[in-house]
Amino acid sequence: MFIDDTIVAVATAPGEAGIGIVRLSGPKALDIANKIFKPIKGNTDLSMQVRKLVYGHVYDQDKVIDEVLVSYMKKPHTFTREDVVEINCHGGYISVRKILEAVIRNGARLADRGEFTKRAFLNGRIDLSQAEAIIDIINAKTNASFDIAQKHLEGNLSASIKQIRDKLTMDLAKITVAIDFPEEDEPEVTYEELSVDLREVMTSIKGLIASFETGKILRDGLKTVIVGKPNVGKSSLLNAILKESRAIVTEIEGTTRDIIEEYVNIGGIPLKIVDTAGIRETDDLVEKIGVQKSKESFESADLVIMMLDSSRHLSSQDQDILSLLGDKKAIILVNKTDLPSMVTDDEIHNYAKGKPIIRISALEKKGIDLLEKEIENMVLEGSLKTQNDIMVTNARHKMALERAFEACSDALTALADNIPLDIAETDFKNAWNELGHITGDTVSEDLLDTIFREFCIGK
Ligand code: GDP
Repeated sequence: MFIDDTIVAVATAPGEAGIGIVRLSGPKALDIANKIFKPIKGNTDLSMQVRKLVYGHVYDQDKVIDEVLVSYMKKPHTFTREDVVEINCHGGYISVRKILEAVIRNGARLADRGEFTKRAFLNGRIDLSQAEAIIDIINAKTNASFDIAQKHLEGNLSASIKQIRDKLTMDLAKITVAIDFPEEDEPEVTYEELSVDLREVMTSIKGLIASFETGKILRDGLKTVIVGKPNVGKSSLLNAILKESRAIVTEIEGTTRDIIEEYVNIGGIPLKIVDTAGIRETDDLVEKIGVQKSKESFESADLVIMMLDSSRHLSSQDQDILSLLGDKKAIILVNKTDLPSMVTDDEIHNYAKGKPIIRISALEKKGIDLLEKEIENMVLEGSLKTQNDIMVTNARHKMALERAFEACSDALTALADNIPLDIAETDFKNAWNELGHITGDTVSEDLLDTIFREFCIGK
């Protein structure tokens, strides 16, 4: 793909800040920078100042816009593998905007979302899974998800996919020879040999697919819903976990009307907590919307925290909610242990068999650590040991792996049925292509657009 235009965007987050960075990439980057920038002293041409910070001013016609530091990085040793210029100016809306406009007036166009990274991919600096790792690094909410993304960017997932794919490449080559030159003296490839390879490939793919269950949680968070009658202490719990008062705590029943979403970090697991209006029948319209939303999020949750008030007997409403849990991943949290207890574990288990029960006092912040431990156990079965292994965290990668596995399985069946090699060859090719989708070796323009749309502008 031939890229002949120059793009520009603000690389820093919008808003008031110490500095802002306007970044250009493309064949005209240097030319444009030379037109709008004048150094205070020294050579006027930035091409003589590669990889140096040059102090000066950006001008619009003859008027100074801002005092800046400019760096020119010559291709191909840049992020995009194109000529790149970065202008460090004062942060804030106006300064960066004026510089951006000056750059555009001089021949660049505003970059699309993720276009710098897309160019890095198209110019062969990184593969597609590495480009996706960059989004994950930016979005990482815990150390664990950051570490995994970092390893992906370094290329550990790509290397593993390449290794698997190389085996299929070899097999495809042998198959081609066998098909094209059936009478050659070359040792013919045997069905047995190919089957052995396929089984190995399938084992590797299976391992990667299996890592997704935890990988997805570490990347996207565990969607957790806190349910329970009004006043059991849901907001207080959320506050205790967040350790700062973002949710409203109130004694008036049903005031947590809208759904509040917050991320918290529990033992390296990002929990995306949704606090709800509580499940109950109500005539109040505003509350009805809240309750309806609650039920929906309950259904789509990865984990339900069902709260009870230990100072009150189980109500029929409590019993109904407990019975609703079924085989959902759930923790029964009995709150207000600072008050005399009116609920036993046996009573609770009558309605929700086998679910772990944890007793806490949100008010006195007691037992929260037990809750955290239980969540950790549930998600990771005790440890974060998988962290060192290669972990698939992206649903797109997982789906491609599943399709590759399927194709290998078809190839294996074809070989077992002694079907002609050229038919089995198609399955080999399908598997090989699917793996290529992960790294971007085989990829369509549409898919690229979808992936890079997830980025922010300026990345
Ligand atoms: P929600 O309606 O379920 O969100 O409940 P809130 O968090 O708003 O709490 C309702 C009331 O119970 C408030 O007055 C809280 O201070 C009180 N509360 C919450 N947790 C505890 C607790 O552990 N012990 C006691 N004694 N009161 C609590």
